[in-house]
Amino acid sequence: MAELVLKPGRERSLIRRHPWIFSGAVARVVGDPKLGETVDVVSSTREFLARAAYSPNSNIIGRIWTWKENENVDPKLLQGRILKAIDSRQKTIDLFHTDAVRLVHGESDGLPGLILDQYGDTYVVQFLSAGAEYWKEEIIDIIKSETDAIVLYERSDIDVRELEGLPSISGLLFGQQLEDRVGITENDVKYIVDIINGHKTGFYLDQRDNRFIAKKMADDLEVLDCFSYTGGFAINALFGNAKSVTMVDSSYLALNTARENIFLNNLDMDKVTFIEQDVFKHLRTLRDNGTSFDLVILDPPKFAPTSAQAERAVRGYKDINLLALKILRPGGLLMTFSCSGGVSEELFQKVLAGAALDAEVDSVILRRLHQAADHPVNLNFPEGAYLKGFLIQKRG
Ligand code: SAH
Repeated sequence: MAELVLKPGRERSLIRRHPWIFSGAVARVVGDPKLGETVDVVSSTREFLARAAYSPNSNIIGRIWTWKENENVDPKLLQGRILKAIDSRQKTIDLFHTDAVRLVHGESDGLPGLILDQYGDTYVVQFLSAGAEYWKEEIIDIIKSETDAIVLYERSDIDVRELEGLPSISGLLFGQQLEDRVGITENDVKYIVDIINGHKTGFYLDQRDNRFIAKKMADDLEVLDCFSYTGGFAINALFGNAKSVTMVDSSYLALNTARENIFLNNLDMDKVTFIEQDVFKHLRTLRDNGTSFDLVILDPPKFAPTSAQAERAVRGYKDINLLALKILRPGGLLMTFSCSGGVSEELFQKVLAGAALDAEVDSVILRRLHQAADHPVNLNFPEGAYLKGFLIQKRG
């Protein structure tokens, strides 16, 4: 087997079982491994450390499959990991009220670069790393034989594939996909998910618990859902008896699906306003008009995938949070999120403190918000905790 030989002292992160090997840590590659092939990772003194998928084009040159020298990387290992991941969801997600679940969450489930989302009988898969791509056919066979999937669709049309030297691909892998869209239920709320044209694999499953929190708080509130996508937070607020909801998103398609979702759940359309607009602009308009709300949700897209873009991202977060704090009524609530890998929870909290200071408001954190339990975070892989949020109350 080919080998990655590390530079002296660079085995430390592997000993702590962090699953990535950066190219700068590698002294040399022994042999001629192909893209995604399994290689042994050895220390400068040639001690076995791990077995990894080789990705020569990426800054992350290796992603660990196993730390055990006697464990082969083969379909049996993949099957065991996939079944274990699926099984853990049975215990952590309320599957009586929800049929849309992330079954495999990459590194944290021991399957670097593999994402598998279930939308009822339809499953959507993403192969995000060279290693996951290398085992694609075997993984499809495992999903076919070991799960209840009737349809499997691929959404490997995502930027990170480029870093791995992989093309953007999407399409049907098995079953008969009759429509672009599937119906799901999440905490008894129904949604239409566009698995072909929607974002990610079609839906933001990671926000499930936070949408539920919004529902519980919304009674009699005027709610502004910024970056609403297909209405997840707004619809929950309506179920929670909000007085009104306003959704702002730049995507016509997303707002159109939000409208369908409101009909699907028999909710009162008279309470709803749709605004197809840039959130940065719209918040300024609201501030200038003196319009105020009781609950504001800010769930923007990733501003900084890596720490290199953190500075620009910080300006974006500060801007929208400052404006949101201004348009909140005293006692009002802000649910604010960052899904940027390059912005830590600590940094995000600092940005919010800066925004509150500049907005000249006194505010408190009521809750810290995170991704749902089907997006687990391996303790050795803190990067897995990408969704950070705060529930903030404006005191005055
Ligand atoms: N809260 C949603 C997910 C939000 S995803 C849920 O629970 O499902 C982010 C959304 O922001 C996407 O729908 C995208 O179309 C929208 N978006 C991105 N940039 C925007 C901008 N500058 N102004 C308005 N919407 C934007």
